[in-house]
Amino acid sequence: MIAATYTQGGAFRVMDVPVPEISEGEALLRVEATSICGTDMKILRAGHRKLTDGQRVVLGHEFAGVIEKSRAPNLPEGSRVGVAPNWGCGHCDACIRGMANYCADFSAFGINHDGSHAEYVRITAPAISQGNIVPLPQDTPWEITSLAEPLSCVVNAQKSLPVRAGDTVAVYGCGPMGLLHILLVAATGAREIIAIDTNEERLASAREAGATQLISGQRENVRERVKEITSGRGLDAAITAAPVPEIVQEALQLLAPFGRLCLFAGLPKDKPEVALDGNAIHYKNLYVTGTTGGCNDDYRLALKLIHSGRVPVAKVISHRFPISDLSEAYDTALSGKAMKVVILANV
Ligand SMILES: [Zn+2]
Ligand SMILES: [Zn+2]
Repeated sequence: MIAATYTQGGAFRVMDVPVPEISEGEALLRVEATSICGTDMKILRAGHRKLTDGQRVVLGHEFAGVIEKSRAPNLPEGSRVGVAPNWGCGHCDACIRGMANYCADFSAFGINHDGSHAEYVRITAPAISQGNIVPLPQDTPWEITSLAEPLSCVVNAQKSLPVRAGDTVAVYGCGPMGLLHILLVAATGAREIIAIDTNEERLASAREAGATQLISGQRENVRERVKEITSGRGLDAAITAAPVPEIVQEALQLLAPFGRLCLFAGLPKDKPEVALDGNAIHYKNLYVTGTTGGCNDDYRLALKLIHSGRVPVAKVISHRFPISDLSEAYDTALSGKAMKVVILANV
């Protein structure tokens, strides 16, 4: 079968690999839809700490499909399922809380187990027993279902803030993840959604996704514009969805009393420090949080939000490719000009 592979230490290759064999307690999934994530781009540029030198892995952790073969109880062949990609050790504090995405010993499809940028995926026994495999309604469109994983990360972030109806919320960075944030903030019932980016095309996409105010970081003074929009009061919540330390500082300064800030994007490994105004936090009773990934519960909520139409994630998809055009799909994602690229068994 065709697969997009990465070997730790350097090489990305689209190549032919054998269809995986399954053991007792496992299943074989035929991939119907899978999307490319910023994490895939990061891995093929810089590797992953979970991989050992020379280890080869099939990339891809955002996916849905049909169970083709099963040796697992309660997972009949022919089931249509969505898959949450992370599972944990099962016994640490994070796992006991149901948040395997914070387990120090987590495993994931497309990270340290073969993932979904291929025709088939071997579904592991712990992924099945920990509840990562979620049955789907019969009429679910495949391509939007693959976006449940990135939306689950956004759900986790907005749950931790939280975002409330009536809030004025700023989203820094209008790439695919920033747009998913805007869609979810809109579904929650925010009063104003302020999209901030330096790229005009991305700002236009933010408007499509439901942003009510656009600020060009290139042409405008962000602080002045936020003051103007909020009549001097400031933001109820801000989300940073771009890996830029300066926007964290700026967003904190723009919060209203009791305002909440989520560092959703990680910062560059060699430049993670941010100078925060401690007095702003102290005198305004601010909340600063950060999140990574989503848990199985977030994933299930993301599926419901997508399938009910509450969060129209199709707005984030810019390109669709058949699995036979896997190389072209990656070229498009690597060009930096795409939003979400989705690979489908049948286009
Ligand atoms: Zn992802
Ligand atoms: Zn654990």
